[in-house]
Amino acid sequence: MESTIAAISTAYGESGIGIVRMSGPMSLNILTKIFVSAKGVQIIKPRYMHYGYIEDPQNGTRLDEVLAVYMKAPHTYTGEDVVEIQCHGSYISLKEILALCLRSGAEPAGRGEFTKRAFLNGRMDLSQAEAVIDLIKARSSRSFDAALGQMGGNLSSKVRAVRDKLKELLIDITVNMDYPDEDIEEITYDQILNRLSLINDEINNLLVSAGEGKIIREGLSVAIVGKPNVGKSSLMNVFLKENRSIVTDIPGTTRDTIEEQASLRGIRICFTDTAGIHETDDPVESLGIERSKQAFDKADLILLLIDSSTPLEEEDKELLKMINDRSAIIVLNKQDLHTVTDENMLETAPNLKVIKTSLAEGKGVEELEDAIEMFVTGGQIRRENDVLVTNVRHASLLRKAKEEVEQAENMTAIHEALDFIEVNIRAAFDYLGEITGDTASDEIINEIFARFCLGK
Ligand code: GDP
Repeated sequence: MESTIAAISTAYGESGIGIVRMSGPMSLNILTKIFVSAKGVQIIKPRYMHYGYIEDPQNGTRLDEVLAVYMKAPHTYTGEDVVEIQCHGSYISLKEILALCLRSGAEPAGRGEFTKRAFLNGRMDLSQAEAVIDLIKARSSRSFDAALGQMGGNLSSKVRAVRDKLKELLIDITVNMDYPDEDIEEITYDQILNRLSLINDEINNLLVSAGEGKIIREGLSVAIVGKPNVGKSSLMNVFLKENRSIVTDIPGTTRDTIEEQASLRGIRICFTDTAGIHETDDPVESLGIERSKQAFDKADLILLLIDSSTPLEEEDKELLKMINDRSAIIVLNKQDLHTVTDENMLETAPNLKVIKTSLAEGKGVEELEDAIEMFVTGGQIRRENDVLVTNVRHASLLRKAKEEVEQAENMTAIHEALDFIEVNIRAAFDYLGEITGDTASDEIINEIFARFCLGK
């Protein structure tokens, strides 16, 4: 028999309420042993909130005043009997109630085990289960929305639709291969090619969103670089809307890199404000510079600040060279002062975006935010129901599936034997099945025979 698991399901700390949750066949039995109704009537009806106390049946010690609910299988989160005990959000209360559940026959739940059981019991597929974790960990509104959509099955249904098309194709090919004498329509190479090409397009449509999806889920890492005194700290402060890094007039005071998290248009951004990347003899400063270079290397996007009120210096030119083959936005700051350097003097790659700002007057910030958002979304405007592939595992499986489909296309084009083509289509089908957690082989065989009349 399946074990019954128990765990504290709310965060540790002080809070109004906390929840101990159990899942498994003994949940109700355990609740009945440890719960005493305030009304004195001890009938626990499913899906009703019951007010009372948790008491240790061994010695009658009262642990806390609680609300308890029992949800009967199979229409529960895990697909099993589930009990939730809402007690006061004190760690002591939660810990003692959990210990009592464990003494009464439950086992401590492993990490993510409630959701794992939900998956194993078919309450959700693998990608939906993964979305639950993303939902809990979401740090920005966009990553939350993406996880919510995925949990609702928007990715699963798209993947299933593509997978079904691969399955249909597999069946048709297999039938042609195995039963050439049967009275069935022959499949042509052109038909296979057409169908593969449509499938490839659909996988591609999903993959297109993967770059944006990864950033939405994990956040965008942005390095703010520029020589001393151009306004790097000021820019960071604008984004953070508070004075976290010190703004001064003395060049080189941002000695270290400072990392800060901010939310920009619902996207989580990790900003690194760096000391100017320039050679120096000062040991403290040079340490900061070393770190700047590291931050520079690992950033998804670089914001290079240039002071438009002074002529370009060697250091600006050096930095301009360094960003030429990187994703970067150039910020021409101090536009409120007399302009000495304008964009025509920059001599950078023509596709690099240049934004003019006066951070002192708060001008150009909106445009800069537009440019950063544009970098993340690639200018794509997403509608509510659009699928965003946020998970690296899913993206990599989609890529593998795509490779297999392309292999199959190449082989179909040169009229290779059907059994070779079938191998790649089957591999693509299996890769997609790994996203949803489905298993494949028996399914296909059964379907093939289901297409035949038995009497024929
Ligand atoms: P950092 O060394 O690159 O981090 O530069 P800071 O952000 O510390 O700014 C250096 C100085 O330039 C400070 O006195 C800021 O107030 C000033 N500053 C920043 N942005 C502007 C701007 O747009 N216009 C003017 N006039 N001064 C600015």
